[in-house]
Amino acid sequence: MKHAIYPGSFDPVTYGHIDIIKRAAKMFDDLTVCVLDNKAKTPLFSVDERVKMLRKVSENIPNVHVDSYYGLLMDYARKIDCHIAVRGLRAVTDFEYELQIAHANRTISGGWLDTIFITSSMEYAYLSSSVVKEIASFGGDITLCVPPVIEEEVIAKMRVLHPEFYSNK
Ligand code: ADP
Repeated sequence: MKHAIYPGSFDPVTYGHIDIIKRAAKMFDDLTVCVLDNKAKTPLFSVDERVKMLRKVSENIPNVHVDSYYGLLMDYARKIDCHIAVRGLRAVTDFEYELQIAHANRTISGGWLDTIFITSSMEYAYLSSSVVKEIASFGGDITLCVPPVIEEEVIAKMRVLHPEFYSNK
């Protein structure tokens, strides 16, 4: 039985992440999407909110499960006895960072945790959670970036944080 973890911040989940989830779910018997609670970042959504949103967008894919973890990916991987991590690659700029993280995970886990990369679909190569938040913070249209259920959640946050851009919407 092949099991993989797709770790990330998912703040919020975008069509780019969903594309990777769908494709990885076809490659593995089981895919655990894990929200890593990274204290170094100030997220827009709480871990619980991100988990709920991921569950909503993956509810029709039976072999996908959503979880969260505070700690090293390697420790989570050991906890659930899974030795493959999936990461998405959009551009060369992702590669350098991702390569370093993949090497680090493999080294500190004593060769136990391997990373495989799935290249982004062309139409989502520009897309990141940060881009979504940037566009929405100025009242811009994010319908091409996230599904409607996620758009609602992002707009609800932005109405509070940036009311000046949402007063007539
Ligand atoms: P992190 O903070 O761990 O980088 P993200 O939520 O930004 O978490 O991304 C999680 C993973 O999804 C990363 O491997 C990232 O490269 C990948 N990813 C993000 N956006 C896209 C996209 N548009 N297409 C493909 N992969 C993506």
